[in-house]
Amino acid sequence: MATQETVEHKYVYDFAEGNKDLKDLLGGKGANLAEMTNLGLPVPPGFTITTEACKAYLATGEEPDGLADQIAAHLASLERAMDKRLGDPEDPLLVSVRSGAKFSMPGMMETVLNVGLNDRSVQGLARQASGSADQATGGADRFAWDSYRRLIQMFGKTVCEVPGEEFEHALDDVKQAKGTHNDLDLDADDLRGLVDAYKKIFFKHTGREFPQEPREQLDLAIRAVFESWNAERAVLYRRQERIPADLGTAVNVVAMVFGNLGPDSGTGVAFTRDPGSGAQGIYGDYLANAQGEDVVAGIRNTVPLQELERLDKQSYDELLGIMARLEGHYQDLCDIEFTIERGKLWMLQTRVGKRTAAAAFVIAGQLVDEGLIDLDEALHRVNGAQLAQLMFPRFRLDHEFQPVAKGIGASPGAASGKVVFTSARAVELAAEGESVILVRRETNPDDLNGMIAAQGILTSRGGKTSHAAVVARGMGKTCVSGADEIEVNVPQRRFVVAGQTVNEGDVVSVDGTTGKVYLGEVPVMPSEVVQYFEGSLDPEHIDNALVRAVHRIMSHADARRRLAVRTNADTGADAARARRFGAEGIGLCRTEHMFLGDRRELVERLILARDNAEREASLAALLPLQRADFEEIFREMDGMPVTVRLIDPPLHEFLPPLEQLAVNVAVAQERGEDVAQEEALLAAVRRMHEENPMLGLRGVRLGLVIPGLFAMQVRAIAEAAVTVTRSGAVARPEIMVPLVGAVQELETVRAEAEKIIAEVVGDSGVEVLIGTMIEVPRAALTAGQIAEAAQFFSFGTNDLTQMGWGFSRDDVEGAFFWRYLELGIFGISPFESIDRDGVGRLIRIAAEEGRAARPELKLGVCGEHGGDPDSVHFFHEVGLDYVSCSPFRVPVARLEAGRAAVETDGSDSR
Ligand code: ADP
Ligand code: MG
Ligand code: MG
Repeated sequence: MATQETVEHKYVYDFAEGNKDLKDLLGGKGANLAEMTNLGLPVPPGFTITTEACKAYLATGEEPDGLADQIAAHLASLERAMDKRLGDPEDPLLVSVRSGAKFSMPGMMETVLNVGLNDRSVQGLARQASGSADQATGGADRFAWDSYRRLIQMFGKTVCEVPGEEFEHALDDVKQAKGTHNDLDLDADDLRGLVDAYKKIFFKHTGREFPQEPREQLDLAIRAVFESWNAERAVLYRRQERIPADLGTAVNVVAMVFGNLGPDSGTGVAFTRDPGSGAQGIYGDYLANAQGEDVVAGIRNTVPLQELERLDKQSYDELLGIMARLEGHYQDLCDIEFTIERGKLWMLQTRVGKRTAAAAFVIAGQLVDEGLIDLDEALHRVNGAQLAQLMFPRFRLDHEFQPVAKGIGASPGAASGKVVFTSARAVELAAEGESVILVRRETNPDDLNGMIAAQGILTSRGGKTSHAAVVARGMGKTCVSGADEIEVNVPQRRFVVAGQTVNEGDVVSVDGTTGKVYLGEVPVMPSEVVQYFEGSLDPEHIDNALVRAVHRIMSHADARRRLAVRTNADTGADAARARRFGAEGIGLCRTEHMFLGDRRELVERLILARDNAEREASLAALLPLQRADFEEIFREMDGMPVTVRLIDPPLHEFLPPLEQLAVNVAVAQERGEDVAQEEALLAAVRRMHEENPMLGLRGVRLGLVIPGLFAMQVRAIAEAAVTVTRSGAVARPEIMVPLVGAVQELETVRAEAEKIIAEVVGDSGVEVLIGTMIEVPRAALTAGQIAEAAQFFSFGTNDLTQMGWGFSRDDVEGAFFWRYLELGIFGISPFESIDRDGVGRLIRIAAEEGRAARPELKLGVCGEHGGDPDSVHFFHEVGLDYVSCSPFRVPVARLEAGRAAVETDGSDSR
């Protein structure tokens, strides 16, 4: 009989067993500690308990089978390596118990240092440290008691939920009694006293003595780290950063090294380059005679890392060597944590460091120069969201402006304006031409008008998925959310921050990129990156690392991308700007604005026409105006395709609102004036009222119902093209019929259009394409038929999303999307980023069936999604020919189209 062997699940990895690619299992911290260990860097020995153990624990509330034994085995080998035993009364091994998930969640989870100290081993630690610990700072005893009080504090807070302030207060009391602010002035006796005080606090809150058994301390600390994965703040942070909730954290158990052993010891953090600007150099902070968290906790003033050269040249040189080595190894900016114990350097953490958008570009460019990465990789390491950030106008900040509060940068941009506290007041002041900042505790759907009227939005509550944040991003409006230092008092129309009162009408400035809030008006400036795109900064001739890096990476994106990038532009000015931004055509020219302003009167006449003659007269009057508009655009886009969409919105949108008309009529009647015209309009508005205008008489339906309307537009387009072409430029019009759901609709419009085009174009050489938008689900599902009548498809993803989900765009975003985001029904609004599974599927079907029916069919996208990074990748995958987006998003789309090509088509050697 074969022996039955239970293969035990491996839950614990020694540092020597892991590597940097095992982040899923070992977390980022553990994987990188393993990597550094294997590089031969000085990492204190230790082991990592896997995220799987954490997940198993969280699922059942108990350590999985075998975990305790595996920990014991790894602890034993750690003890052998260190030649000490955990908590040994004579010469204790101490360890830290550190959280570390796959994605860094700064400060969200827990770490306990000095595990293994108790009433006896604290004496042993002191004896071991004596001889070399510095007498001036209280010596070995001081060090040992300092370490012990830190353990009780961290253990109490983390493992037993003792309120942290109680420990803080006790520490403050001791300092006060001593008449000092500096923890270094406390001697061994003070700290021994503090340990007693801490133990009492511990007992008061837990009803038990501080655990003396080292292995019990260790096990409880490990549990606490597991549990910290589900701490409220960690859950919130994950939701905001879109980190999956089920990853779990690993736990690292690391032999302690001591930065608090005296002036020849210390602890620090460093970056291998400046994470703010990307500049090369040495960036970091160092604190002598301190442990772990002291550097970031700000208990004493740190010194710049460069000072270490003076304090301990040997460690400094070694550190710089290691930093260079890590950069070469990770081929990227790294951040590190280190500790020096009596002149011996120890590495405690590294990871590829977070950086600003500007630094991301600059560093990617530098790494190419240094031969560490190629341009494909550089392109891969930046993204469209970062580029978009670099294009927002920025505050011109100098020393005069100090932020008074900091919230979450919920929607980027820089906005200044008068503070208002209600939507109504925002609308009122905005109507007077004031720029306003709407300040609320949190916004709700009733604030929508105010948000639209405001220049920026500031809330004291809520994160990146709050109502304010979601709606503001949807509108492209600057928003800072969750600035909890400000106390908003709506009834009294004021808020208080940092002891100052800001009343309605006072000016504030909010930075939606950094989340910072300033009092007063901070001047803004256009970003350098925009100046470069506009052509006013020459990357070859200026000393600006950012602009040069952007230029270089954009050029590579252009060389690599398969998708063309067009723009949505309705005027010559927009077209010209987009062209400077790199647009290769117009994917959507809306014709409705050509019916606004002083042309409204002509539209009114069209709507009110009592017979053919009247209608034709108004259309004839519109024709030359439209023609002039098209000429301007064709000229501006000389040689590039211009897709013109025939009129789309319901005509009554061009009439005054019902209430206003009714009032006008009533007032005029009162005065005894002649109101025939107004009454006719009012009747028309009433007649044309629709319950669901989005699903009503619009798009191609208008063209089929109102004789001559589309014909006039087609004629204007064709005539303009001929005029421009005769003048020596090249016009390439593409006529796009909106809202088609059935091929018969398109065929009808097309038959009429072709007749007009043939007549106008003659032998001018102008070629006019006719195609359709695919924005009604039925069109996507019958694309094979529609392609028979269309030379191109342009996906109108806004309507396709609206009709695919049954979401009325104007209503739902403010009304309930925040709730859907909160519940995770979708991770991002489907109007912002294409819903691949549903709406995306419609696009795939239409692309495939359309191309099958007509292989040369041109395919593009003209919804907002054309400028959204993730959506651009999707359109690349589906094999569209181009995306079209607003002028400002053109560079973003170019970059992302290049990234999509590099990521899906593999690298090349360029
Ligand atoms: P975080 O993820 O919040 O940075 P860490 O687990 O890195 O938490 O630990 C907190 C602090 O304690 C850091 O400054 C770290 O360098 C320090 N630290 C962690 N383990 C040890 C150790 N074994 N010896 C000395 N210091 C340590
Ligand atoms: Mg750390
Ligand atoms: Mg549409």
